[in-house]
Amino acid sequence: MLTLIMKKEAVQAAAKEFLQFVNRGVSPYHVVEECRRRLLEAGFTELKETEQWDIKPASKYFVTRNFSSLIAFAVGGKYLPENGFSMIGAHTDSPCLRVKPRSKRTKQGVLQVGVECYGGGIWNTWFDRDLTVAGRVMVKSDGQLVQRLVHVPRPLLRVPHLAIHLQRDVNDAFGPNKENHLVPILGTAVQEELETGSSSSGDASSAANTADKHHPALVRVLCSELGVQPDSLLDFELCLVDTQPAALGGVYEEFIFSPRLDNLHSCYCALQGLLESCCADSLTSDPNVRMITLFDNEEVGSESAQGAQSNLTELILSRLAASTRNPSAFQQAAPRSFMISADMAHAVHPNYTEKHEENHRPAFHKGPVIKFNSNQRYATTAVTACVVREVASRVGVPLQDVMVRNDSPCGTTIGPILAARLGVPVADIGAPQLAMHSIREMCCTSSVLQSTALFKGFFELFPSIRNSLVVD
Ligand code: ZN
Repeated sequence: MLTLIMKKEAVQAAAKEFLQFVNRGVSPYHVVEECRRRLLEAGFTELKETEQWDIKPASKYFVTRNFSSLIAFAVGGKYLPENGFSMIGAHTDSPCLRVKPRSKRTKQGVLQVGVECYGGGIWNTWFDRDLTVAGRVMVKSDGQLVQRLVHVPRPLLRVPHLAIHLQRDVNDAFGPNKENHLVPILGTAVQEELETGSSSSGDASSAANTADKHHPALVRVLCSELGVQPDSLLDFELCLVDTQPAALGGVYEEFIFSPRLDNLHSCYCALQGLLESCCADSLTSDPNVRMITLFDNEEVGSESAQGAQSNLTELILSRLAASTRNPSAFQQAAPRSFMISADMAHAVHPNYTEKHEENHRPAFHKGPVIKFNSNQRYATTAVTACVVREVASRVGVPLQDVMVRNDSPCGTTIGPILAARLGVPVADIGAPQLAMHSIREMCCTSSVLQSTALFKGFFELFPSIRNSLVVD
């Protein structure tokens, strides 16, 4: 009984630490910033792609691209360039609304902000939420073009539902038009006139300055957060964000109610697994490089300079595997490597059980889920699955299997992309969650500790399990 209680304490502690991470990770830039902060604190050295690297064994490094993707790695004490990489990949982006480059709109005396749909969100969940903005802003400062992160901590925006009296069928079908119906309200012209003595006028479509492309009230809030003048504002990428923080929930506090579980849960557990694996002295005897790759733009197909389809991973792996002694070191290292593609999985929904294949219904608390799809929407093979099962059994983490019904669409991940690009064996794995791509999703508390333990175990055990693998 005592061990059970302690276990629950450890589960809750890990879940609470994740809440901090997800509450700070309000945009891909903030996710990278939070990972960067934790990595620096753990003794990792920041590298730049633009510089030459001097990589030492038993040392820890990270590099970012576009400040929205991040690769961190810990070099084993016994590393040789042809040895291989133990990798976990995830993504930093989530579906959201984003402020358009010319966002100023006024309709019926209401100040509104034009937004673009990023990724495949369940857009009707964005109605009636207390929203704010977060992201990055480019500002001109002393002749330099500087990136600054911003997160306004109060509810600024709202997309109100149309009253049921004006749409009696809303409970039968609700499909908002993404251009017309998702435009959030920022304020009213009449209040603006009271507060500032002038009303927001001018045509955003012909505005020449960034400050004139948006409502002055929005520009003022951003500038006061950043401590800059409106004329120094250049461009920005701003996500709309729910102001309600993630929380533990359920009668036993066994759930996490949170935005962006897909895929900050995986980012957090990958990072935590790497950090915890480096605490013990297992790194000194590791022949591999332990690596996490956190990419932006997965939700829109991964095809960007910082996405999983980019050359980022290959460039970094080939730098680490460069060897004058062995010119084919990189080619030898790729098939000796392994990647866990970590992305969330669909838990069985009690109200929609028929949507799940009858023998593949992942449940809360029963462990991370291995995803299979022989049409290669997931990259898992019998070989990669058995490697993960071996890790899991050695560290005492339960696993589940999932496959979609033949008459159901199937999601995909960065797994097949990286398997194809790198020629590295990949297993697709994810923690079970509900309401994927809603503004507020749901998973179970135990999944944080389970995934972290599995990932830590993977980093520590993969090289020896790889040595025991006989497939050819
Ligand atoms: Zn995802």
